[in-house]
Amino acid sequence: MAATEAPSNEHVYKVPLKVFVDRNENKVVFAEARKEFVDVLFSFLALPLGTIARLVAKESNIPAVKVGSLSSLYESVSHLEEEHLWTQACKEMLLHPRTSMESYCQLLKLNIDDTAPTKYFLCEDLGCSRKTNGSLLSIFKNQRCSCGKLMNRIVSPEISTLEKGFVKESATFIICDDLSVLPNVLVTIMNLLQKLGVKDMNGIEEQTVDISKREVVDLLKLSLISKNPLTDFVLEKKPRVDDFNPINQSWVERGDESSDEGRKIVVRALVRKSNEKIVFADADEDFADLLFSFMTLPLGGVLHMLEGKSSLSCIDKLYKSISELSPDRYLRSQRVKEELANPKCAPLFTISDQILPIGEDILPVYYCNTFIYGKERHVVLATSTRPRIYGYDMNARLEIFDPKSCIGDSRSDKGFVKGPSTFVVTDDLFVTPMSSISAVSCLKRSQVPLSDLEERVISVGVKEGLAILKASLTSTSALTEGLLHFTKVIELEI
Ligand SMILES: [Zn+2]
Repeated sequence: MAATEAPSNEHVYKVPLKVFVDRNENKVVFAEARKEFVDVLFSFLALPLGTIARLVAKESNIPAVKVGSLSSLYESVSHLEEEHLWTQACKEMLLHPRTSMESYCQLLKLNIDDTAPTKYFLCEDLGCSRKTNGSLLSIFKNQRCSCGKLMNRIVSPEISTLEKGFVKESATFIICDDLSVLPNVLVTIMNLLQKLGVKDMNGIEEQTVDISKREVVDLLKLSLISKNPLTDFVLEKKPRVDDFNPINQSWVERGDESSDEGRKIVVRALVRKSNEKIVFADADEDFADLLFSFMTLPLGGVLHMLEGKSSLSCIDKLYKSISELSPDRYLRSQRVKEELANPKCAPLFTISDQILPIGEDILPVYYCNTFIYGKERHVVLATSTRPRIYGYDMNARLEIFDPKSCIGDSRSDKGFVKGPSTFVVTDDLFVTPMSSISAVSCLKRSQVPLSDLEERVISVGVKEGLAILKASLTSTSALTEGLLHFTKVIELEI
C-alpha cells in the first residue's frame, strides 16, 4: 500500500508480504506469510483494549478510527481528574495497560504495542529492602514505600525469559482476506480458490507489499472496521461502513435469563421511551470500575469470554485460527496455543471484585538477595534465596506492592475508582464523575423532553457485563445494546 507515500526512513524495519490479487474482481485472494507477519497478527489478541483504543486513534497511512464505544471510554479516562482514582498509577494503568503476553511480544520486530515493558523497583533505601520481612517490590516507579521513601531503585529479575513470538520459525501460512490464518498447503489454496469461485487463474497476480509498524497499525484499524481488511489494505479501498456486522443477537439471547447468581451492580438508566434508548445512566463507583477495567482486558481474553463471537468478524476469524492450528507443526507449543486462546490480564491489572470471568497473571515470588562486589552492594532479584556462604545476604520474600493502593490503605477491594462516588455514563460509555457535572446540565444536554424520559433500574451481573463489553466493540450505543436486551427491568416507584 503506502510504500510510495511512507517517509523515506531507511531505518524502518520492513517485512515483505506476498499477496495474490484477483484482477478481475479487484480483490485480494490471499497472502502468503512467514513467521514475522503472522506473529504480529496474533499479537493483536494480546493487546489490551485500552492499547487498541490508543493505537487506532493515531494517524497511520489511514486516518484515526474509532472502535465502538471503546474510543469514548478511553477518552473519558484521559479526561478524568486523578483525584477520582485511588492512586496516580491507576490512570497510567488504564491509559497504558500492560499485556500479560509481554514476554512473547517484546522481541517482535513489528511489535506495535508502545507500552513500556514491566520494570521492577525497590525502596531507594536498600536497608529497607533487606529487612527480613515486609519488604516491598513495585512494578511502577516512584511508589511510596512503607518507610515513607520512594521506590525508585530499579532491579532486574535474574532470569528473564523472552519468547520468540507465537509460531514456528520455518512455518509458512496463508492469510485470507478476512484474516483467517491457515497452513500453507496446496489443498488450502485450492479450497480457497474454489470457495471464492475463481475461474480464471490468469487473472491472479502476485505482488509484494512491504510491511513496517505503520502498515501493521493500518491492518489493526482495518481488522476492526472492515470485512475485507487485506483487500482494503493492499488495494487502498475505503472500508464500507455498511459492511459492518450488526450485533450478534443470538449470543445475548442464548441461555437463561439474567441469572440471580454472583455479584450485581445497580445501574439507574434514564431511558427515552419513544425510541427505547438509554440516554444516560448513573451508578456508583463499582460500575465505573467495571467499565474502566475494559481497558485492561486483552482482546483474546475478551474473545474467550464471548466464546469467539465478538461481532468483529475478522478478529473472530483470527481467534478461531489459533484453535485450528496444530502446535506440532505451526504454533511454537501447546502452551503458546492455550495462552493465546485465553490471555489473562497483566499482573495487578484486574479489579478485585471483577464480575467478568477474566483471570490475572501472577508474578513469580521474588527474593531480594544482595552481595558485596568491590565496594558496592549489588542487588539480585531472584526466584529463590541464595546461601550466605557465597556472600549473599539471605532475605525473605518480597511483597508485591499493589499500585492501586497506598500504604496504610486497608481497603480489601482493590479497584481503580475512588468511592463512595457517583458517575454518569453516556450510551457510548463516556464516564464522568457526578461531582464534575450537575444533574440539570445532564438533562439539558440530552435535549430529550422530560415527559419522554423514564428511569429504570437494571442490575448488572456477569451476563449484562459481557453484553455491554461485546456491544462496546462495535456500537456507539453500548449501554442500550448491552442492557436493553435484558428486559428484566424494575420500574422505579417514586
Ligand atoms: Zn522503604
